[in-house]
Amino acid sequence: MAKKDIWIVKLGSSLLLHQEDRLNEKFLDSLAQQLVTVRQAGKQIILVSSGSVAIGKHKLGINTKALDLLELQASAAVGQSDLMGSYSRILGKYDIIAAQLLLTHYDFQRRKSYLNTRTCLGKLLELNCLPIINENDTLMDEEVCFGDNDTLAAMTANLISASLLVILTDIDGVYTANPRDDKQAKLIDEINADDKSLDNIATGEGSGLGRGGMLSKIKAARLAAQSGATTIIANGNQQGVLTMLLDGKNPGSKLTSERVPSLARKRWLAGQLRPLGKLCLDTGAIQALQNRGVSLLPVGVTSVSGSFDRGDPVSCCDEKGVEMARGLVNYSSNECHKIKRLPSEKIGSVLGYEYEPELIHRDNLALL
Ligand code: GLU
Repeated sequence: MAKKDIWIVKLGSSLLLHQEDRLNEKFLDSLAQQLVTVRQAGKQIILVSSGSVAIGKHKLGINTKALDLLELQASAAVGQSDLMGSYSRILGKYDIIAAQLLLTHYDFQRRKSYLNTRTCLGKLLELNCLPIINENDTLMDEEVCFGDNDTLAAMTANLISASLLVILTDIDGVYTANPRDDKQAKLIDEINADDKSLDNIATGEGSGLGRGGMLSKIKAARLAAQSGATTIIANGNQQGVLTMLLDGKNPGSKLTSERVPSLARKRWLAGQLRPLGKLCLDTGAIQALQNRGVSLLPVGVTSVSGSFDRGDPVSCCDEKGVEMARGLVNYSSNECHKIKRLPSEKIGSVLGYEYEPELIHRDNLALL
């Protein structure tokens, strides 16, 4: 893929919908006009768009606020096609070809699907299409859901090495306190995404239409920062919110990243995998991993929890349970229970076979 400047633009349901149920075509039209300008300036854009559930729910006449899983899946199936129909029609007026990608967490978790998704996005950008991603809520269950589209957008930023994640919502950015209940709250102009002060100010509540609140946006910014992306959280109703960014103006809050982008595979290991188990490491093993970049050996593992197979993602924690690394493990949880604390030479005699001397090879391990 040619190295271009890629922006991920995430649009929340509250922006896209009028009166909670009808698509706000005026908003989409103004967005399309801005996209023309931004693309002409050489940026490649991927949209992450919510809205399917709210649209489908209305069309199906479901009036309850909290949907059960089947109602949510059905609403998404109905709403997604209307949503994409509108995108295609409105973007088409500006000669932009819309392309739909519906993803589940599983598509990021499996190395092969992860790579396929990345390749496909790359091809669509090369063909000058506008990829529009949403969570595949129709296939959603607890195991494969992202939780919200802020997370999906950040994971896409990691996946495709985007330089910028723009989260457009119906509030002006990140405030020093929740502006809905604190009149003294001030908008934060710029802050490091990892700044600890952000932990206290974010609440989990959103508009009620979509799933993410400010907390999920800050988490998303931190995830995006792992691959070196800056995040802008801004009010999407502002005139020219995207084109402002081209002029170097900040339309909301800018959450910066000071990290050196890690290698793509390490990033995938750290950000996209959902650990199925936990290995507790002794201090010697932690120091070796952190200071010498070595592989994790069974001898450094003090306890094992969870149920996982060979090749599954696991977290590595210190004795207090603080996660310090993630990786793909060479032995199942049953095997790990048997070989923990043992020198690698003993693996063969205890298990009757030895796949590898390492529990997690350094190439499959990412420090957090
Ligand atoms: N995927 C959901 C939808 O299209 C929205 C999820 C969210 O609000 O974060 O309605």
